[in-house]
Amino acid sequence: MSWFDGFEPICRSDVPLRAHTWYQLGGPARWMLTPRDEGELAAVVDRCRKEGVAWRMLGRGANLLVRDGGFDGAVLRLTGEIFEKIAYDGGSVAVGAGADFPKFVRDAFNHSLVGLEALAGIPGTIGGIVRMNAGGKYGEIRQFVRAVRVLNPKGEILTLPAEQVGFRYRHTDLDGFVVLGAVLELEPGDRDAALRRHREIWNEKYDQQPPVSARSAGCIFKNPPGQSAGRLIDEAGLKGFRMGAAEISRKHANFIVADAGATAQNVLDLIALAKDRVWNRSGVSLELEIEVW
Ligand SMILES: Cc1cc2nc3c(=O)[nH]c(=O)nc-3n(C[C@H](O)[C@H](O)[C@H](O)COP(=O)(O)OP(=O)(O)OC[C@H]3O[C@@H](n4cnc5c(N)ncnc54)[C@H](O)[C@@H]3O)c2cc1C
Repeated sequence: MSWFDGFEPICRSDVPLRAHTWYQLGGPARWMLTPRDEGELAAVVDRCRKEGVAWRMLGRGANLLVRDGGFDGAVLRLTGEIFEKIAYDGGSVAVGAGADFPKFVRDAFNHSLVGLEALAGIPGTIGGIVRMNAGGKYGEIRQFVRAVRVLNPKGEILTLPAEQVGFRYRHTDLDGFVVLGAVLELEPGDRDAALRRHREIWNEKYDQQPPVSARSAGCIFKNPPGQSAGRLIDEAGLKGFRMGAAEISRKHANFIVADAGATAQNVLDLIALAKDRVWNRSGVSLELEIEVW
């Protein structure tokens, strides 16, 4: 008997998480489960809780650094038609948590629904995007979210109005919740104009940052109020600094990029160094934006 008795068809053991994260770093998940519907998902989470198995939700792994030792618990992914469904009702769009965000943005343009061009160039699933309140200088996902469908820590599936999600800078009150989907409200508008704006914002972003194809997890640290984490790290003289095969980006110091042969520990060492140097130089305590498992 194992804790995942009955879930064998959807459970794999020792799954390398490097294959599932943007960084392509880190060790295996002890278990990875891909539930086939919401009922099965609720049952898996319930089993994890009852058996004391640590569990985490995984989207595209675009905001994650997995340690070299891996994650000693269950990693749950929402893939397949049921979790990736998109349903349009005028400007109101219900999107499954597993849907790929950049693809959805383009799909919405094709329905002449605009607004999400403000979030151009942000990889992830709707689940991760909502959970992190992803965004940048032109907007955040919270501006578009009307409601979020969740599995709450009591095991109930319910719909939270946006006001109850606790959206704030790169965070929400959804710790311990599973995001199942979100209802977004988009404006009807001109598809081609939205595409042009999307391209402009994308170009602007990647003029200043490493390309989306680079192995990173986006910005490492949150910007302290009124300051730029990248500038503080740059002023501490760390642009281009390397540990093993990881580097504080020369293009934008709030990015740490992994080259071939890098380890998660290389990235963690650079994080510790940046925190330390910025604290000593500027008296600012940098807070992680990425999650470390
Ligand atoms: C090149 C690059 C550029 C980026 N630019 C930006 C940017 O401009 N702005 C920005 O905000 N972010 C940016 N990011 C970070 C990343 O794109 C976002 O944080 C995004 O929301 C991550 O989504 P994900 O699905 O990959 O989540 P993951 O990285 O897989 O997970 C992130 C967190 O969300 C949780 N989670 C995932 N799915 C669910 C779910 N269904 N239910 C509950 N919790 C869930 C995870 O457990 C974890 O806590 C960038 C990343 C990269 C690699």
